Amino acid sequence: MLRWLSGRGAPQRKVEQELALLTDEVWHRAIVSHPFLVGLTPDEDLALQQRTAWILASKQFSGVQGLELTHEIMLSVAIQAALPIMQLSPRLYEGWTEIIMYPSGFVIPRTEVDESGVVHEYMMEASGEAWDGGPLILSWEDAEAGLVSRANVVIHEFAHKLDLYGSDADGMPSLGAHPDIHPHEWQRILQASFDEFCASLAAAEDAIPSYIDPESAEAQPWYASLPLDAYAATDLAEYFAVSTEVFFVDPAPLAQGLPQWYALLARYYRQDPYRRMSLFHAKGS
Ligand SMILES: [Zn+2]
Repeated sequence: MLRWLSGRGAPQRKVEQELALLTDEVWHRAIVSHPFLVGLTPDEDLALQQRTAWILASKQFSGVQGLELTHEIMLSVAIQAALPIMQLSPRLYEGWTEIIMYPSGFVIPRTEVDESGVVHEYMMEASGEAWDGGPLILSWEDAEAGLVSRANVVIHEFAHKLDLYGSDADGMPSLGAHPDIHPHEWQRILQASFDEFCASLAAAEDAIPSYIDPESAEAQPWYASLPLDAYAATDLAEYFAVSTEVFFVDPAPLAQGLPQWYALLARYYRQDPYRRMSLFHAKGS
């Protein structure tokens, strides 16, 4: 049963050591502090625990700028990162090892060349970043805030890693283990739902009266009906990452607003968080 645990990323002994640290009490506390982890079946709970231990054993966490890493912080990152691959192979997170954690938002130097060929260098504030073949970087302050909001930077950055596995950041993860999903089908639904989302975003923006700054908090009610944050319209890679966040954290608007895209994600992740959460809440537990 623990066959897959000995992936190239971590020796089985190390995974078992991490599993041993996840006592019932530690695990229960971790589950309840991540409200989107409700309604897991005992099998799913076990699978999540095993992948969490695999991540803790195979990734090297480092805290920078004075962030002191505790087991609780690493466990929180690992349990969230484990959710998307709960029913997938942990190999999808292989090919890189480092998770760098900042206490809060960090700045990334960026260079851009404009139309007239002028080079602009500037600093961009970020809450997370995933390098192709390199580290995954997170702000703990933003990761912690994600426990109680629709935005989830941990799941977002790990979704980029799934997208990058074996190909470019293009909104299409590796479908090697999914003979039931043809790449053309993925491409078609990805593009169609992205176009549909961009059109609803444009309509929402058009409806904002001219006296309201569309970037301000006052404009938020116009975006409230959208199934995803406006950032998803950036490109197909961000669309996949933002969709994955809400798929796991707050799936109802996505399942209702973009049902074909939701259904495709459910086939890819082999999970149906909308159904799982609905059943849980219907039970009133
Ligand atoms: Zn992103």
